[in-house]
Amino acid sequence: NVVPKKELPQYLTADAAFGNFSEASSPVCVPYVIIGGGTTAWSAVQAIHEKDKSASVLIISDESYPPYNRTPLSKERWSSDDDNLSFVDFMGRKRSLLYSYSKQVGEHQRSSILLNSRVKKLDLENSSIETEDGKVVEYQSLLIATGGKAHPVESVHQDLGNDALQNRVMSFRTIDDFIALDKLVRDPKTKNVCIVGGGFLGAELACSLKRIAKLNDVQVTLMFPEPGPLFKLIPRYLSEFLTYKLASAGVKVMPSSIVTGARESPENSDSIELDVVSFTKKSLQTDAVVVAVGIQPQDKLAEDAGLEVDQINGGVVVNAELQAANGVFAAGDVASFWDSALGRRRVEHWDHALVSGRIAGDNMAGGKSMYGFQSMYWCDLSAIDVHFEAVGLQSSKLETVGVWNLKEPSRFENRPGSFSRNKYESGIVWYMKDQRVVGALLLNMPREALQEARQIIESKTSVPDDESLKELIPLPK
Ligand code: NAD
Repeated sequence: NVVPKKELPQYLTADAAFGNFSEASSPVCVPYVIIGGGTTAWSAVQAIHEKDKSASVLIISDESYPPYNRTPLSKERWSSDDDNLSFVDFMGRKRSLLYSYSKQVGEHQRSSILLNSRVKKLDLENSSIETEDGKVVEYQSLLIATGGKAHPVESVHQDLGNDALQNRVMSFRTIDDFIALDKLVRDPKTKNVCIVGGGFLGAELACSLKRIAKLNDVQVTLMFPEPGPLFKLIPRYLSEFLTYKLASAGVKVMPSSIVTGARESPENSDSIELDVVSFTKKSLQTDAVVVAVGIQPQDKLAEDAGLEVDQINGGVVVNAELQAANGVFAAGDVASFWDSALGRRRVEHWDHALVSGRIAGDNMAGGKSMYGFQSMYWCDLSAIDVHFEAVGLQSSKLETVGVWNLKEPSRFENRPGSFSRNKYESGIVWYMKDQRVVGALLLNMPREALQEARQIIESKTSVPDDESLKELIPLPK
Protein backbone atom coordinates (compact mmCIF):
# COMPACT_ATOMS: atom_id res chain seq x y z
CA ASN A 1 0.00 0.00 0.00
CA VAL A 2 1.61 3.25 -1.16
CA VAL A 3 -0.61 5.53 0.95
CA PRO A 4 0.99 6.52 4.24
CA LYS A 5 -1.06 5.38 7.26
CA LYS A 6 -1.79 8.99 8.25
CA GLU A 7 -3.64 9.41 4.95
CA LEU A 8 -6.11 6.67 5.87
CA PRO A 9 -7.69 8.15 9.01
CA GLN A 10 -11.22 7.11 8.09
CA TYR A 11 -10.55 3.63 6.92
CA LEU A 12 -9.69 0.41 8.62
CA THR A 13 -7.82 -2.10 6.55
CA ALA A 14 -9.99 -5.12 5.77
CA ASP A 15 -7.70 -7.19 8.03
CA ALA A 16 -8.32 -4.86 10.97
CA ALA A 17 -12.07 -4.79 10.38
CA PHE A 18 -12.73 -8.49 9.81
CA GLY A 19 -10.02 -10.32 11.71
CA ASN A 20 -7.44 -11.88 9.47
CA PHE A 21 -9.35 -11.06 6.28
CA SER A 22 -6.69 -12.04 3.77
CA GLU A 23 -6.06 -15.42 5.45
CA ALA A 24 -9.69 -16.38 6.21
CA SER A 25 -10.62 -19.62 4.42
CA SER A 26 -14.44 -19.30 4.63
CA PRO A 27 -16.44 -16.38 3.18
CA VAL A 28 -16.46 -13.18 5.21
CA CYS A 29 -19.96 -11.68 5.65
CA VAL A 30 -20.27 -7.90 5.39
CA PRO A 31 -23.64 -6.09 5.33
CA TYR A 32 -22.56 -3.40 2.86
CA VAL A 33 -20.05 -4.04 0.11
CA ILE A 34 -19.00 -1.46 -2.47
CA ILE A 35 -17.01 -2.42 -5.56
CA GLY A 36 -14.93 0.56 -6.67
CA GLY A 37 -13.31 3.27 -4.58
CA GLY A 38 -14.04 6.60 -6.29
CA THR A 39 -16.31 9.56 -5.59
CA THR A 40 -19.47 7.42 -5.89
CA ALA A 41 -18.20 4.95 -3.29
CA TRP A 42 -17.21 7.70 -0.87
CA SER A 43 -20.56 9.42 -1.20
CA ALA A 44 -22.44 6.13 -0.72
CA VAL A 45 -20.50 5.27 2.46
CA GLN A 46 -21.48 8.57 4.02
CA ALA A 47 -25.15 8.06 3.17
CA ILE A 48 -25.07 4.51 4.60
CA HIS A 49 -23.54 5.77 7.85
CA GLU A 50 -26.00 8.61 8.16
CA LYS A 51 -28.84 6.08 8.10
CA ASP A 52 -27.24 3.08 9.76
CA LYS A 53 -24.83 4.47 12.35
CA SER A 54 -23.05 1.23 13.18
CA ALA A 55 -22.96 -0.11 9.62
CA SER A 56 -20.04 -2.25 8.65
CA VAL A 57 -19.00 -1.28 5.12
CA LEU A 58 -16.25 -2.72 2.93
CA ILE A 59 -14.92 -0.86 -0.11
CA ILE A 60 -12.92 -2.96 -2.56
CA SER A 61 -10.85 -0.84 -4.93
CA ASP A 62 -8.21 -1.66 -7.52
CA GLU A 63 -6.57 1.74 -6.99
CA SER A 64 -3.71 2.33 -4.60
CA TYR A 65 -5.39 5.36 -2.94
CA PRO A 66 -8.58 5.59 -0.91
CA PRO A 67 -11.41 7.61 -2.56
CA TYR A 68 -10.17 10.91 -3.97
CA ASN A 69 -11.37 13.75 -6.13
CA ARG A 70 -10.24 13.23 -9.71
CA THR A 71 -11.42 16.60 -11.05
CA PRO A 72 -8.36 18.68 -9.96
CA LEU A 73 -5.99 16.26 -11.71
CA SER A 74 -6.46 17.98 -15.09
CA LYS A 75 -7.04 21.44 -13.56
CA GLU A 76 -5.96 23.01 -10.25
CA ARG A 77 -3.45 20.31 -9.32
CA TRP A 78 -1.08 21.66 -11.98
CA SER A 79 -0.80 25.08 -10.33
CA SER A 80 0.46 23.67 -7.05
CA ASP A 81 4.00 22.71 -6.19
CA ASP A 82 2.91 20.93 -3.04
CA ASP A 83 3.00 17.24 -2.31
CA ASN A 84 1.08 15.13 -4.77
CA LEU A 85 -2.06 14.67 -2.71
CA SER A 86 -3.18 18.29 -2.38
CA PHE A 87 -4.37 21.18 -4.54
CA VAL A 88 -5.44 24.79 -4.13
CA ASP A 89 -9.14 25.30 -4.93
CA PHE A 90 -10.75 28.30 -6.69
CA MET A 91 -11.12 30.07 -3.32
CA GLY A 92 -7.38 29.79 -2.69
CA ARG A 93 -7.79 27.12 0.02
CA LYS A 94 -5.36 24.25 0.22
CA ARG A 95 -7.32 20.99 0.04
CA SER A 96 -6.49 17.32 0.01
CA LEU A 97 -7.38 15.28 -3.06
CA LEU A 98 -8.38 12.52 -0.63
CA TYR A 99 -11.95 12.88 0.61
CA SER A 100 -12.79 13.18 4.27
CA TYR A 101 -16.16 12.50 5.87
CA SER A 102 -18.68 15.23 6.50
CA LYS A 103 -19.29 16.32 10.10
CA GLN A 104 -22.64 14.49 10.24
CA VAL A 105 -20.74 11.23 10.05
CA GLY A 106 -18.90 10.59 13.29
CA GLU A 107 -15.16 9.97 13.42
CA HIS A 108 -15.82 6.56 14.96
CA GLN A 109 -17.77 5.40 11.92
CA ARG A 110 -14.85 4.19 9.94
CA SER A 111 -15.45 2.00 6.97
CA SER A 112 -12.98 -0.59 5.85
CA ILE A 113 -11.12 -0.64 2.60
CA LEU A 114 -9.23 -3.15 0.54
CA LEU A 115 -6.89 -1.37 -1.89
CA ASN A 116 -5.07 -2.76 -4.94
CA SER A 117 -7.68 -5.48 -5.17
CA ARG A 118 -10.00 -6.35 -8.07
CA VAL A 119 -13.29 -8.19 -7.89
CA LYS A 120 -13.34 -10.89 -10.55
CA LYS A 121 -16.77 -12.44 -10.00
CA LEU A 122 -20.20 -11.41 -8.81
CA ASP A 123 -22.49 -14.27 -7.79
CA LEU A 124 -26.04 -12.92 -7.53
CA GLU A 125 -27.59 -16.19 -6.45
CA ASN A 126 -25.34 -16.52 -3.41
CA SER A 127 -25.07 -12.76 -2.79
CA SER A 128 -21.29 -12.90 -2.88
CA ILE A 129 -18.29 -11.52 -4.71
CA GLU A 130 -14.86 -13.02 -5.27
CA THR A 131 -11.62 -11.06 -5.56
CA GLU A 132 -8.84 -11.93 -8.00
CA ASP A 133 -6.84 -13.44 -5.15
CA GLY A 134 -9.70 -15.78 -4.28
CA LYS A 135 -11.26 -13.98 -1.30
CA VAL A 136 -15.04 -14.53 -1.08
CA VAL A 137 -17.23 -11.89 0.59
CA GLU A 138 -20.97 -12.30 1.18
CA TYR A 139 -23.05 -9.13 1.20
CA GLN A 140 -26.55 -8.10 2.15
CA SER A 141 -26.41 -5.01 -0.02
CA LEU A 142 -23.97 -4.36 -2.87
CA LEU A 143 -23.06 -1.23 -4.81
CA ILE A 144 -21.34 -1.46 -8.19
CA ALA A 145 -19.37 1.80 -8.37
CA THR A 146 -16.69 0.68 -10.80
CA GLY A 147 -16.77 3.88 -12.89
CA GLY A 148 -14.87 3.99 -16.14
CA LYS A 149 -11.39 3.13 -17.30
CA ALA A 150 -9.41 5.27 -19.74
CA HIS A 151 -9.36 3.78 -23.23
CA PRO A 152 -5.94 2.15 -23.55
CA VAL A 153 -3.18 3.85 -25.56
CA GLU A 154 -3.47 1.07 -28.18
CA SER A 155 -6.98 2.25 -29.03
CA VAL A 156 -5.40 5.21 -30.86
CA HIS A 157 -2.81 3.06 -32.65
CA GLN A 158 -1.38 -0.32 -31.70
CA ASP A 159 2.21 0.93 -32.14
CA LEU A 160 1.70 3.31 -29.20
CA GLY A 161 1.55 0.23 -26.96
CA ASN A 162 5.09 -0.85 -27.95
CA ASP A 163 7.19 -1.78 -24.94
CA ALA A 164 9.99 0.50 -26.13
CA LEU A 165 7.70 3.55 -25.82
CA GLN A 166 6.13 2.47 -22.53
CA ASN A 167 7.51 5.19 -20.28
CA ARG A 168 6.64 8.01 -22.63
CA VAL A 169 3.13 7.06 -23.79
CA MET A 170 0.41 7.18 -21.18
CA SER A 171 -3.28 7.56 -20.50
CA PHE A 172 -4.42 9.94 -17.77
CA ARG A 173 -7.03 9.14 -15.15
CA THR A 174 -5.46 8.51 -11.73
CA ILE A 175 -3.17 10.15 -9.16
CA ASP A 176 -0.40 7.84 -10.34
CA ASP A 177 -0.94 9.08 -13.92
CA PHE A 178 -0.68 12.66 -12.67
CA ILE A 179 2.57 11.88 -10.87
CA ALA A 180 4.02 10.22 -13.97
CA LEU A 181 3.07 13.07 -16.33
CA ASP A 182 4.21 15.75 -13.89
CA LYS A 183 7.59 14.04 -13.67
CA LEU A 184 7.86 13.81 -17.46
CA VAL A 185 6.98 17.46 -18.02
CA ARG A 186 9.44 18.62 -15.39
CA ASP A 187 12.26 16.51 -16.81
CA PRO A 188 14.65 18.95 -18.56
CA LYS A 189 15.01 16.42 -21.39
CA THR A 190 11.30 16.76 -22.24
CA LYS A 191 10.83 19.45 -24.86
CA ASN A 192 7.54 18.34 -26.46
CA VAL A 193 4.35 16.71 -25.20
CA CYS A 194 1.63 15.60 -27.60
CA ILE A 195 -1.89 15.13 -26.25
CA VAL A 196 -4.13 12.94 -28.43
CA GLY A 197 -7.86 13.62 -28.00
CA GLY A 198 -9.82 16.85 -28.24
CA GLY A 199 -12.38 16.26 -25.48
CA PHE A 200 -12.50 17.72 -21.98
CA LEU A 201 -9.43 15.99 -20.75
CA GLY A 202 -7.29 16.87 -23.77
CA ALA A 203 -8.33 20.53 -23.76
CA GLU A 204 -7.94 20.96 -20.00
CA LEU A 205 -4.58 19.21 -19.90
CA ALA A 206 -3.29 21.28 -22.83
CA CYS A 207 -4.11 24.44 -20.86
CA SER A 208 -2.72 23.16 -17.57
CA LEU A 209 0.48 21.84 -19.15
CA LYS A 210 0.94 25.06 -21.07
CA ARG A 211 0.95 26.96 -17.80
CA ILE A 212 3.66 24.90 -16.19
CA ALA A 213 5.41 24.11 -19.46
CA LYS A 214 6.13 27.82 -19.87
CA LEU A 215 8.64 27.44 -17.07
CA ASN A 216 10.46 24.69 -18.90
CA ASP A 217 9.89 25.81 -22.47
CA VAL A 218 7.96 22.66 -23.38
CA GLN A 219 5.95 22.66 -26.62
CA VAL A 220 2.40 21.32 -26.05
CA THR A 221 0.57 19.83 -29.06
CA LEU A 222 -3.14 19.00 -28.99
CA MET A 223 -4.11 16.59 -31.77
CA PHE A 224 -7.55 15.18 -32.51
CA PRO A 225 -9.63 13.82 -35.42
CA GLU A 226 -12.38 16.48 -35.32
CA PRO A 227 -12.15 19.96 -36.91
CA GLY A 228 -11.92 21.63 -33.49
CA PRO A 229 -11.72 20.91 -29.73
CA LEU A 230 -14.92 19.74 -27.99
CA PHE A 231 -16.39 19.55 -31.48
CA LYS A 232 -18.82 16.74 -30.60
CA LEU A 233 -20.39 18.89 -27.89
CA ILE A 234 -20.36 22.51 -28.92
CA PRO A 235 -21.29 24.48 -32.05
CA ARG A 236 -18.60 24.82 -34.73
CA TYR A 237 -18.11 28.58 -34.19
CA LEU A 238 -17.35 28.04 -30.51
CA SER A 239 -14.96 25.20 -31.27
CA GLU A 240 -13.18 27.49 -33.76
CA PHE A 241 -13.01 30.16 -31.09
CA LEU A 242 -11.35 27.68 -28.70
CA THR A 243 -8.86 26.70 -31.42
CA TYR A 244 -7.97 30.35 -31.86
CA LYS A 245 -7.63 30.94 -28.11
CA LEU A 246 -5.54 27.81 -27.55
CA ALA A 247 -3.26 28.68 -30.45
CA SER A 248 -2.89 32.23 -29.10
CA ALA A 249 -1.87 30.78 -25.73
CA GLY A 250 0.93 28.86 -27.48
CA VAL A 251 -0.66 25.40 -27.80
CA LYS A 252 0.09 23.80 -31.16
CA VAL A 253 -3.39 22.71 -32.26
CA MET A 254 -3.60 19.92 -34.86
CA PRO A 255 -7.24 19.39 -35.85
CA SER A 256 -8.42 16.70 -38.31
CA SER A 257 -5.35 14.60 -37.48
CA ILE A 258 -4.99 10.92 -36.69
CA VAL A 259 -1.99 8.86 -35.61
CA THR A 260 -1.18 6.05 -38.05
CA GLY A 261 2.09 4.80 -36.60
CA ALA A 262 4.60 5.33 -33.79
CA ARG A 263 8.19 4.33 -33.11
CA GLU A 264 11.27 5.29 -31.17
CA SER A 265 12.79 8.20 -33.04
CA PRO A 266 15.75 7.06 -35.20
CA GLU A 267 17.65 10.25 -34.30
CA ASN A 268 17.00 10.28 -30.56
CA SER A 269 16.09 7.20 -28.54
CA ASP A 270 14.48 9.42 -25.85
CA SER A 271 11.99 10.69 -28.39
CA ILE A 272 9.01 9.29 -30.31
CA GLU A 273 8.26 9.68 -34.00
CA LEU A 274 4.56 9.73 -34.80
CA ASP A 275 3.13 9.19 -38.28
CA VAL A 276 0.19 11.50 -38.62
CA VAL A 277 -2.39 11.79 -41.37
CA SER A 278 -3.77 15.28 -41.40
CA PHE A 279 -4.48 17.38 -44.46
CA THR A 280 -1.23 15.81 -45.65
CA LYS A 281 0.88 12.97 -44.28
CA LYS A 282 3.52 14.14 -41.85
CA SER A 283 5.71 12.96 -39.05
CA LEU A 284 5.85 14.52 -35.62
CA GLN A 285 8.72 14.24 -33.13
CA THR A 286 7.63 14.29 -29.53
CA ASP A 287 9.11 13.30 -26.18
CA ALA A 288 5.83 12.13 -24.64
CA VAL A 289 2.30 11.22 -25.72
CA VAL A 290 -0.78 11.50 -23.51
CA VAL A 291 -3.77 9.58 -24.82
CA ALA A 292 -7.04 11.25 -23.73
CA VAL A 293 -9.65 9.54 -25.89
CA GLY A 294 -12.47 8.88 -23.46
CA ILE A 295 -13.38 6.19 -20.99
CA GLN A 296 -15.04 2.80 -21.09
CA PRO A 297 -17.64 2.03 -18.38
CA GLN A 298 -16.49 -0.88 -16.23
CA ASP A 299 -19.62 -2.99 -16.61
CA LYS A 300 -18.21 -6.40 -17.58
CA LEU A 301 -18.37 -7.81 -14.05
CA ALA A 302 -22.08 -6.97 -13.91
CA GLU A 303 -22.73 -8.27 -17.42
CA ASP A 304 -20.97 -11.57 -16.66
CA ALA A 305 -23.18 -11.91 -13.57
CA GLY A 306 -26.27 -11.68 -15.80
CA LEU A 307 -27.24 -8.07 -15.13
CA GLU A 308 -28.58 -6.00 -18.02
CA VAL A 309 -26.08 -3.71 -19.73
CA ASP A 310 -27.23 -0.72 -21.80
CA GLN A 311 -26.50 -1.63 -25.44
CA ILE A 312 -26.45 2.01 -26.57
CA ASN A 313 -24.78 4.00 -23.78
CA GLY A 314 -22.96 1.17 -22.01
CA GLY A 315 -23.29 0.77 -18.25
CA VAL A 316 -25.40 -1.29 -15.87
CA VAL A 317 -29.12 -0.66 -16.32
CA VAL A 318 -30.71 0.52 -13.06
CA ASN A 319 -34.24 1.55 -12.08
CA ALA A 320 -35.24 4.91 -10.62
CA GLU A 321 -33.94 3.81 -7.20
CA LEU A 322 -30.59 2.90 -8.82
CA GLN A 323 -31.22 -0.79 -8.27
CA ALA A 324 -30.00 -3.32 -10.85
CA ALA A 325 -31.32 -6.42 -9.03
CA ASN A 326 -32.57 -7.27 -5.57
CA GLY A 327 -30.03 -5.82 -3.12
CA VAL A 328 -27.67 -4.78 -5.93
CA PHE A 329 -27.24 -1.12 -6.85
CA ALA A 330 -25.13 0.74 -9.41
CA ALA A 331 -24.26 4.44 -9.46
CA GLY A 332 -21.81 6.93 -10.95
CA ASP A 333 -20.18 6.60 -14.39
CA VAL A 334 -21.07 2.90 -14.64
CA ALA A 335 -24.84 3.29 -14.21
CA SER A 336 -27.32 3.64 -17.05
CA PHE A 337 -30.23 5.35 -15.32
CA TRP A 338 -33.66 6.70 -16.23
CA ASP A 339 -33.82 10.48 -16.46
CA SER A 340 -37.49 11.52 -16.38
CA ALA A 341 -36.76 14.71 -18.36
CA LEU A 342 -34.29 13.34 -20.94
CA GLY A 343 -34.71 9.56 -21.12
CA ARG A 344 -32.22 6.78 -20.43
CA ARG A 345 -28.68 8.12 -19.96
CA ARG A 346 -25.23 7.38 -18.66
CA VAL A 347 -23.13 10.37 -17.64
CA GLU A 348 -19.53 10.82 -16.55
CA HIS A 349 -19.86 13.76 -14.16
CA TRP A 350 -18.41 14.25 -10.70
CA ASP A 351 -21.69 15.86 -9.62
CA HIS A 352 -23.60 12.77 -10.75
CA ALA A 353 -21.16 10.48 -8.90
CA LEU A 354 -21.73 12.47 -5.73
CA VAL A 355 -25.53 12.57 -5.86
CA SER A 356 -26.19 9.11 -7.34
CA GLY A 357 -23.71 7.63 -4.82
CA ARG A 358 -25.62 9.27 -2.01
CA ILE A 359 -29.01 8.03 -3.25
CA ALA A 360 -27.68 4.51 -3.79
CA GLY A 361 -26.11 4.46 -0.30
CA ASP A 362 -29.33 5.67 1.27
CA ASN A 363 -31.35 3.01 -0.57
CA MET A 364 -28.85 0.29 0.37
CA ALA A 365 -29.59 1.17 4.00
CA GLY A 366 -33.36 0.87 3.53
CA GLY A 367 -34.27 4.20 1.88
CA LYS A 368 -36.63 4.54 -1.05
CA SER A 369 -35.27 7.62 -2.77
CA MET A 370 -35.60 8.14 -6.50
CA TYR A 371 -32.75 9.58 -8.55
CA GLY A 372 -34.12 12.62 -10.33
CA PHE A 373 -31.18 14.98 -10.52
CA GLN A 374 -29.82 16.94 -13.48
CA SER A 375 -26.11 16.78 -12.76
CA MET A 376 -23.78 19.48 -14.02
CA TYR A 377 -20.15 19.51 -15.08
CA TRP A 378 -17.65 22.26 -15.54
CA CYS A 379 -14.59 22.77 -17.68
CA ASP A 380 -11.72 25.08 -16.79
CA LEU A 381 -9.48 26.17 -19.62
CA SER A 382 -7.49 28.42 -17.33
CA ALA A 383 -4.73 29.39 -19.74
CA ILE A 384 -7.30 30.93 -22.10
CA ASP A 385 -9.71 32.38 -19.50
CA VAL A 386 -12.56 30.12 -20.55
CA HIS A 387 -14.74 28.56 -17.89
CA PHE A 388 -17.97 26.81 -18.70
CA GLU A 389 -20.59 24.83 -16.89
CA ALA A 390 -23.17 22.60 -18.50
CA VAL A 391 -26.33 20.74 -17.59
CA GLY A 392 -28.59 18.40 -19.58
CA LEU A 393 -27.62 17.19 -23.06
CA GLN A 394 -24.77 18.68 -25.10
CA SER A 395 -24.24 17.38 -28.60
CA SER A 396 -23.36 19.20 -31.78
CA LYS A 397 -25.95 16.97 -33.47
CA LEU A 398 -28.70 18.87 -31.65
CA GLU A 399 -30.08 22.19 -32.83
CA THR A 400 -28.40 24.97 -30.86
CA VAL A 401 -29.17 28.61 -30.23
CA GLY A 402 -26.41 30.84 -28.85
CA VAL A 403 -27.15 33.94 -26.79
CA TRP A 404 -23.96 35.96 -26.39
CA ASN A 405 -22.21 38.96 -24.98
CA LEU A 406 -19.77 39.52 -27.81
CA LYS A 407 -16.72 41.67 -27.85
CA GLU A 408 -15.99 42.88 -31.36
CA PRO A 409 -12.62 41.75 -32.69
CA SER A 410 -10.09 44.44 -33.32
CA ARG A 411 -9.33 45.31 -36.95
CA PHE A 412 -5.97 43.59 -36.61
CA GLU A 413 -7.52 40.38 -35.29
CA ASN A 414 -10.15 40.19 -38.01
CA ARG A 415 -7.90 39.60 -41.00
CA PRO A 416 -9.74 38.00 -43.93
CA GLY A 417 -9.32 34.25 -44.24
CA SER A 418 -8.66 33.76 -40.53
CA PHE A 419 -10.84 32.02 -37.93
CA SER A 420 -13.96 33.70 -36.65
CA ARG A 421 -12.40 35.93 -34.02
CA ASN A 422 -15.51 37.12 -32.29
CA LYS A 423 -14.79 37.13 -28.62
CA TYR A 424 -17.43 35.17 -26.78
CA GLU A 425 -17.12 36.91 -23.45
CA SER A 426 -20.10 35.29 -21.76
CA GLY A 427 -23.27 33.61 -22.86
CA ILE A 428 -25.33 30.47 -23.20
CA VAL A 429 -25.69 27.77 -25.82
CA TRP A 430 -29.18 26.31 -25.60
CA TYR A 431 -29.57 22.76 -26.94
CA MET A 432 -33.02 22.12 -28.41
CA LYS A 433 -35.15 19.11 -29.33
CA ASP A 434 -38.74 19.46 -30.61
CA GLN A 435 -38.84 23.09 -29.42
CA ARG A 436 -37.84 22.08 -25.92
CA VAL A 437 -34.66 23.00 -24.08
CA VAL A 438 -32.78 19.76 -23.38
CA GLY A 439 -29.40 21.20 -22.45
CA ALA A 440 -27.45 24.36 -21.71
CA LEU A 441 -23.81 25.29 -21.76
CA LEU A 442 -22.94 28.45 -19.86
CA LEU A 443 -19.76 30.30 -20.69
CA ASN A 444 -18.34 32.63 -18.05
CA MET A 445 -21.83 33.08 -16.56
CA PRO A 446 -22.71 33.86 -12.91
CA ARG A 447 -23.20 30.83 -10.69
CA GLU A 448 -27.00 31.24 -10.26
CA ALA A 449 -27.55 30.80 -14.01
CA LEU A 450 -26.82 27.09 -13.79
CA GLN A 451 -29.65 26.40 -11.36
CA GLU A 452 -32.02 28.39 -13.57
CA ALA A 453 -30.96 26.36 -16.62
CA ARG A 454 -31.44 23.14 -14.65
CA GLN A 455 -35.00 24.14 -13.77
CA ILE A 456 -35.78 25.05 -17.39
CA ILE A 457 -34.69 21.56 -18.52
CA GLU A 458 -36.57 19.81 -15.72
CA SER A 459 -39.80 21.73 -16.35
CA LYS A 460 -39.88 20.48 -20.00
CA THR A 461 -41.47 23.75 -21.10
CA SER A 462 -41.59 24.38 -24.82
CA VAL A 463 -39.97 27.47 -26.27
CA PRO A 464 -41.79 28.83 -29.34
CA ASP A 465 -38.90 30.74 -30.98
CA ASP A 466 -35.26 31.79 -30.63
CA GLU A 467 -36.25 35.24 -29.36
CA SER A 468 -37.91 33.67 -26.30
CA LEU A 469 -34.65 31.90 -25.48
CA LYS A 470 -32.95 35.27 -25.08
CA GLU A 471 -35.40 36.09 -22.31
CA LEU A 472 -34.86 32.91 -20.31
CA ILE A 473 -31.69 33.90 -18.43
CA PRO A 474 -30.33 37.45 -18.62
CA LEU A 475 -26.67 37.79 -19.56
CA PRO A 476 -24.36 39.76 -17.26
CA LYS A 477 -24.03 43.45 -18.26
P1 NAD B 1 -14.04 12.62 -24.28
O1 NAD B 1 -14.97 11.53 -24.66
O2 NAD B 1 -14.60 13.90 -23.77
O3 NAD B 1 -13.13 13.02 -25.56
C1 NAD B 1 -12.45 12.05 -26.33
C2 NAD B 1 -11.69 12.71 -27.48
O4 NAD B 1 -10.79 11.75 -28.03
C3 NAD B 1 -12.54 13.18 -28.64
O5 NAD B 1 -11.94 14.30 -29.26
C4 NAD B 1 -12.46 11.99 -29.59
O6 NAD B 1 -12.73 12.23 -30.93
C5 NAD B 1 -11.00 11.64 -29.44
N1 NAD B 1 -10.71 10.27 -29.89
C6 NAD B 1 -11.45 9.15 -29.67
N2 NAD B 1 -10.84 8.08 -30.25
C7 NAD B 1 -9.71 8.55 -30.82
C8 NAD B 1 -8.65 7.95 -31.57
N3 NAD B 1 -8.64 6.64 -31.84
N4 NAD B 1 -7.63 8.75 -31.99
C9 NAD B 1 -7.62 10.06 -31.71
N5 NAD B 1 -8.59 10.69 -31.00
C10 NAD B 1 -9.62 9.93 -30.58
O7 NAD B 1 -13.05 11.97 -23.22
P2 NAD B 1 -11.80 12.60 -22.44
O8 NAD B 1 -11.58 13.99 -22.84
O9 NAD B 1 -10.68 11.62 -22.60
O10 NAD B 1 -12.27 12.56 -20.95
C11 NAD B 1 -12.24 11.32 -20.23
C12 NAD B 1 -13.20 11.36 -19.08
O11 NAD B 1 -12.84 12.32 -18.12
C13 NAD B 1 -14.61 11.63 -19.48
O12 NAD B 1 -15.41 10.87 -18.64
C14 NAD B 1 -14.76 13.09 -19.16
O13 NAD B 1 -16.12 13.40 -18.90
C15 NAD B 1 -13.91 13.20 -17.92
N6 NAD B 1 -13.36 14.56 -17.76
C16 NAD B 1 -14.22 15.57 -17.55
C17 NAD B 1 -13.74 16.85 -17.42
C18 NAD B 1 -14.71 17.95 -17.18
O14 NAD B 1 -15.88 17.70 -17.01
N7 NAD B 1 -14.24 19.17 -17.16
C19 NAD B 1 -12.38 17.10 -17.52
C20 NAD B 1 -11.52 16.05 -17.74
C21 NAD B 1 -12.03 14.77 -17.87
